[in-house]
Formats: sequence, structure tokens, C-alpha cells
Amino acid sequence: MVQVRKQPQRTCLGCRQVKDQDQLVRFVRSPDGEILADLKGKLPGRGAYLCNDRDCIETAASRKQFDRAFRKVCQPVAGRQLVESITEQLLAHLANLLGMARKSAKFVAGSNAVLDALNRKKLLAVVILARDISPQIGEKVRRKAEYQQIVTTQLFDKVKLGRILGRAERSVVGLPDGKLAAAFLDDLLRYQDISGES
Ligand SMILES: [Zn+2]
Repeated sequence: MVQVRKQPQRTCLGCRQVKDQDQLVRFVRSPDGEILADLKGKLPGRGAYLCNDRDCIETAASRKQFDRAFRKVCQPVAGRQLVESITEQLLAHLANLLGMARKSAKFVAGSNAVLDALNRKKLLAVVILARDISPQIGEKVRRKAEYQQIVTTQLFDKVKLGRILGRAERSVVGLPDGKLAAAFLDDLLRYQDISGES
């Protein structure tokens, strides 16, 4: 008989809903009682879980649910701080993934190159616009990408995007369809959920 291994289920400390563990954010208590968001699920010790959601995190922090979950007094922490730590970690993941795209040369950078790829209907999975892109160019790229149902997002600024890709400043980057883009979209969704940005 084949046993189907079910995804482990965990309860969110905020809303008490039971969900698949990989849909929740893991938190651990450091030896000195600090609550740490553990996005990669690699930190040692007992874990507590919360939805990737501001309200759940703020509820848990304000009601001292971490003390209960870890059965130990934890350092007081504001939900806002935990949310900030999660958004920072996700931004770092996203930058890392772009860095990997750079190493494998799997990206299209620059507004002209991305527009050209969009014109040739070359399969892009996601288009990243710098936050400080000129509104006109941004609008042009966004319209074209959205017409082809390609996800667009605004992240980082031109200098940072360029630096991640090892170049001078870049206002637009496109990732072709593939595993890397899928991982990027996964983290991007989580980032958008918790930051409230699009
Ligand atoms: Zn929840």
C-alpha cells in the first residue's frame, strides 16, 4: 500500500486557522527570548506559525501568543517590527534570485531590451520596474506586459537593480519563464501580501 504523505499542518497563532505549514511563516525564540521570523525554516528549536498577514502577526504580538506557544517569556515585540523583518527578508530573497538570474545570464535588462522582448512576444514571466523609473516609460512597459498577462511589479530603484545585475543603473528587468521566475513570483506574492504593495 502506498502511503500518501500529507503536508504537515500548523495552527496560526493569530487567527487560529489550521493551514499547510508551507503557507505559514515560522517563528522561533532565540535563547535570550527574542522572537525571530524564520522564512527559510532553518533556525533550530521549536517553531510557532503565523499566516503571512499583518493582522495575524499583530494580533499574536499584542496578545502575547508567543509566550504561550513557546511556554516561556519572550521579549516583547511589536507586530510592526516582525512585519518589517519579514518584508526585509523577502526583499533580500528577491535580490538574491535576481543575482542568480545574472549568474546564469537569464534576464533581459533595460527598457529598450524589455520592450523589444515584449514586442517579439518572447516569453517573459515577470517584469520588474524600478521604483524611480520615469512614469512614461514605466507606463509603456507596464501596459505592454499586462496586455500579455505578464506580472509586473515595482521593486528597488534603478541603481540597486543595476548593481544586482552587475551593470550601470537599469530601470526595467524581465525574467524569462522558468524555475527562477517561478521562485521569484512565489516570493513576490508573499512580499505583496505582507507589505500591501503591488
Ligand atoms: Zn492567521
